[in-house]
Amino acid sequence: MKRNNSNGPAMTDRPAQDGPDPEGLDPQDGPAFRARAHTLLDACLDHLDAARERPWQPVSDPVREALMPPLPHTGIGEEATARALAAMLPHGTGNTHPGFFGWVQGTGTHMGLLGEMTAAAINANLGGRDHGAIYVERAVIGWAKQIFGFPDEASGVLTTGTSQATVIALSAARLAIAGPEIRKHGIAGVPRLMAYCAAGAHNAMLKAVELLGHGSDSLRRIPLGTDGAMDLAALKAAIAADREAGHTPFAVIGTAGSVDTGAFDDLNALADIVAAERLWLHVDGAFGAWARIAGDPWQELTTGIERADSLAFDFHKWMYVQYDCGAVLIRDETIHRAAFAARPSYLEAQDAGLGGGEPWFCDYGIDLSRGFRALKVWSTLRAYGLDRLGDAIAANCRQAALMAALVEAAPELTLAAPVRLNLCCFRVIRPDLAPEEADALHRRIAIHLQLDGTAVFSTTTLNGRTVLRAAIVNHRTRREDVERAVEGVLRAASEPGP
Ligand SMILES: *Cc1c(COP(=O)(O)O)cnc(C)c1O
Repeated sequence: MKRNNSNGPAMTDRPAQDGPDPEGLDPQDGPAFRARAHTLLDACLDHLDAARERPWQPVSDPVREALMPPLPHTGIGEEATARALAAMLPHGTGNTHPGFFGWVQGTGTHMGLLGEMTAAAINANLGGRDHGAIYVERAVIGWAKQIFGFPDEASGVLTTGTSQATVIALSAARLAIAGPEIRKHGIAGVPRLMAYCAAGAHNAMLKAVELLGHGSDSLRRIPLGTDGAMDLAALKAAIAADREAGHTPFAVIGTAGSVDTGAFDDLNALADIVAAERLWLHVDGAFGAWARIAGDPWQELTTGIERADSLAFDFHKWMYVQYDCGAVLIRDETIHRAAFAARPSYLEAQDAGLGGGEPWFCDYGIDLSRGFRALKVWSTLRAYGLDRLGDAIAANCRQAALMAALVEAAPELTLAAPVRLNLCCFRVIRPDLAPEEADALHRRIAIHLQLDGTAVFSTTTLNGRTVLRAAIVNHRTRREDVERAVEGVLRAASEPGP
């Protein structure tokens, strides 16, 4: 192969080269690279085998330095870099550990690892065209439509997560109400478009309306009823008041599994209101939508999800698939496409060949270049099957119920919210402390248990007070991990000091 020498003076006197290119990026010594790759794969599997012994650990100064070397003008080579990759393995978030209940973070699966590895080898761009990877993503979207009761004609696309899925869904929602001209004229001059969600809805809803240019005041936070769900009378009143004020309501956002307590809005009731008001129902099912496959009593919480106009959910939370992968489903494919399709002539459709393969995923979302996220989902689902994944989800719900039972059995602890799903929020009872001191105590307990590797709780605020929060989306968790975590809280709480 003849080099193109126009890139710099240093190359001008190099001889033309046949065979392996000394400056190329592919391995120069194939067998040696292969051996290194096998060793690294073994290290990855060893890491997962030892997941139980590897909680999160703070990043030490030397590790941080090693991870942030100066800009490498000259590489250290494959061997040394492969060793550095293996050395990175212990320094993750700790969500692979069975005592990790902090935030809603999935564990990752072995088959997801193999899917990621294979996807990296293929290095497909799923923006469009006609190649095998496209069919894998179509299969995953098709399965999701079946799971959540969406019609065959519905469309969908995999995303970085529910945050991006929400932006896509709300873009479609406003186009449905405001018409396709909004893409041309923008929102200036259009009556103010309003969306509605429960007070406990995720912050990603706010980000989405901000990103779409509506401003955070365009998202009405509807108070919760005693059941933790959006108060329906308050919702109707807010819609009426906005219409009265000359605004244009466009979307109601239902929550299927709130991030703090796992609460569900009454999705059927929301669908009725939306039908009567001629609005768009979007459901945020980031993790909670998966209760759909857990069997009852959890499955019934998702009743009505099949009536949504759009649904956002994650594979990287409660389907245990590696980061990152979320998805959006949209009932009306034509609206979805109308909100995003825009292709310049160099991307024109072809009837056949690699440039075929319509419809292209880039016409249903933000990104033109798209990675092969679908393969880790596909390999996880194919290997374990929906039933086994549903069993793991149900097990997490039972573990949250077990945690609640242990809390109720301990005189020093009290539940801060009913446990409906996989989230358990509780407090240490310390009537001797001022409220702010008690709040600080809970934050200290969480940090203490994170640092000593017992368990990872997060904290959140419920009814104005800081509480410990466990969100169990962990397929490795066993009964004893839950017991150890609660014992850890009791131990940390009994230590002297406020
Ligand atoms: C995590 C979460 C989100 C945001 O999803 P990402 O995948 O992190 O972008 C939205 N809503 C709820 C209820 C969540 O739990």
